[in-house]
Amino acid sequence: MKEIRFPCHIYDISDAQKVYEQSEWELVKDYGEYTALPDKTVLHDNYNWDEGGRRLVRCRECGALILRQHSMYNDMYDGPDGYYKDWIPVTSAEEADLLNILWGSMELEQYPFRHFRGNNHDFFWTEGDEPKPYDPEELKKKIREVYSGLDVGKKKLLEQMISEAGRV
Ligand SMILES: [Zn+2]
Repeated sequence: MKEIRFPCHIYDISDAQKVYEQSEWELVKDYGEYTALPDKTVLHDNYNWDEGGRRLVRCRECGALILRQHSMYNDMYDGPDGYYKDWIPVTSAEEADLLNILWGSMELEQYPFRHFRGNNHDFFWTEGDEPKPYDPEELKKKIREVYSGLDVGKKKLLEQMISEAGRV
């Protein structure tokens, strides 16, 4: 297997429309519509508005991993559906799993570094510094802070999810 590149080679392509049309991806993991504890307690949705979800994909060109969120709203007057796509570069499946636990749908959209974004048929690179990998230990600490209000039993389930991060 090719070495994982960070971030993906798409960062070398300034034309985001071209990125969307020409990049090819392999599905690694489907996180579905929401993130939940093993007992089905929902921690957060994985999309904004009406429907959507998150996936981890691998670039067929360079092996890079991208965590993606897709959000759609269904127009109430029979107009075209609207959507947002956000592609967040990650260094490992563990990092992706931890970010998926930590971030609600708005937080992922507000990823602070430059990233690929689609809004309906408009594709562009957001403003921001070049992406930096997150430290998994820091992410685990933040997850424990964010969900510190859970009861003891649910905290145990959360720890189970944390320890299983990165397993395929
Ligand atoms: Zn790539």
